[in-house]
Amino acid sequence: MTYYPARAVVDLDAISANVTRLAEIARTAQVMAVVKGDGYGHGLLPAARAALRGGATWLGAAQLSEALALREAGITAPILTWLYAPGAPLAQVLRAGIDVSVPAPWALTEVAAAARATGTTARVHLKVDTGLGRGGSFLEDWTAMLADAMALQAGGVLSVVGVWSHLARADELDHPSVRDQLDVFAEAVRRAENAGAALEVRHLANSAGTLAVPDAHYDLVRPGIAAYGLSPMPGTRPSDDVGLVPAMRLEANVHLVKDAAAGQGVSYGHTYTTATDTSLAVIPLGYADGIPRHAGNTAPVFLGGRRHQIAGRVCMDQFVLDIGRGSGVHAGDVAVLFGSGAEGEPTAQDWAEAAGTISYEIVTRLGTRVPRVYRGEGG
Ligand SMILES: *Cc1c(COP(=O)(O)O)cnc(C)c1O
Repeated sequence: MTYYPARAVVDLDAISANVTRLAEIARTAQVMAVVKGDGYGHGLLPAARAALRGGATWLGAAQLSEALALREAGITAPILTWLYAPGAPLAQVLRAGIDVSVPAPWALTEVAAAARATGTTARVHLKVDTGLGRGGSFLEDWTAMLADAMALQAGGVLSVVGVWSHLARADELDHPSVRDQLDVFAEAVRRAENAGAALEVRHLANSAGTLAVPDAHYDLVRPGIAAYGLSPMPGTRPSDDVGLVPAMRLEANVHLVKDAAAGQGVSYGHTYTTATDTSLAVIPLGYADGIPRHAGNTAPVFLGGRRHQIAGRVCMDQFVLDIGRGSGVHAGDVAVLFGSGAEGEPTAQDWAEAAGTISYEIVTRLGTRVPRVYRGEGG
C-alpha cells in the first residue's frame, strides 16, 4: 500500500535550476553534483538526473553502493566515490567505470589489487588532507603515497586523474584556515604534477567554497546542499540572495481538529498547556519520519494561512499544533512543515534554527517511510 498522510514534494526543476546557477557561479569550473545521503533525502536517482539536466558533468557519492546504483540506473556521467573500508568491493566499482578516491596507502594497495583482478586501469583521485583533519593523507605522508601511486600508474594498473581535498571552514567568510588549506592544496598539486601526474581535475570546493571562495574552484566544484536550494551559509549567503530555490516541501494532511479547553496539557509530558479555550490539530509526522524531537515547542508549521509553533513534544508518528478557535482548519487540510518559503511557509533553514541543527540534517534525515513525490521534468 502506498497511502501515507504526508509526503515530501520534490521540485526537480528547482534542482536543475540550482545546478545551472552554481555552474554560472563556478564560471570555468565544472560541477560535480553531490548526491550522497539519497540525494540529501530528495531521492538519489531523480536528484542525480535533475542535476545532470541542469549542467552538472560529474556526480559524487560518498558510498560505493550509491555510486553503483547510479551506474545500474544507466547514468553514464563520470562518478567519484570516496568512503569505504578495507575489504570493500572495489572490483565491482572499477568494472562499473567509477572513479575512486585514494585517501591512504592501504586504499592504494586495495584499488591496485582490484584493478589487477578486473584487468581495468583504475581512475583514482588522490585525497590530501589540507587541514580538515578528517579523510585524506597529510602532506607529511603525501609524497610517499604519491610515489607509490605513480609507480602503479607506470605499471598500467591505475591512472591518477585527480587530486582533491575538502575545506573545514569555507562557510566562515575569509576565515584564515581557508587560505592555509588552499596553500597546502597548491603544494600537493605541485608535487603530483612534478611526479608526472597528468591531472584531469583538481577539486576542493563544497557548496560554501563554490559560493564564497573563487580561488577554491580549480577545475571542478562539488556542491551538495546548494544544489537542493539550501545555503551552507544562511547568515552571509542566504539562498534567495544567491538565486537558489529550496527543492523540497514537506507536507502532511491534518489527522483531526478538535476543541480543547484552557489548561489542557498537550502531548507526552504535558510540556505545553493551552492558555485559552482553543482548537488542537494533530499532524501525522513524527520522529520515525525524521522530524527532530528537538523541534517540540519550537519549530514552525504553516497551516490555515499562518505559522504555528509545535505544541508540546514531537512523538514517534505525530505532533500537535494549537491553532486557536475559528481557524477554519479541518481534518485533511494540508500543513506545510517546510518548503521554498514562497507562500509564507517556513524553510528547512527555519527548522534547522528551531531544532539547533543545520538544514542538511533536516532534509537528509527525513525518514524512508515518507513518500517522495516528484514535480517538474523527470517527475
Ligand atoms: C558532502 C560533501 C560535499 C558537499 O558538501 P556541501 O556542503 O553539501 O556542498 C563535497 N565534498 C565532499 C567530500 C563531501 O563529503
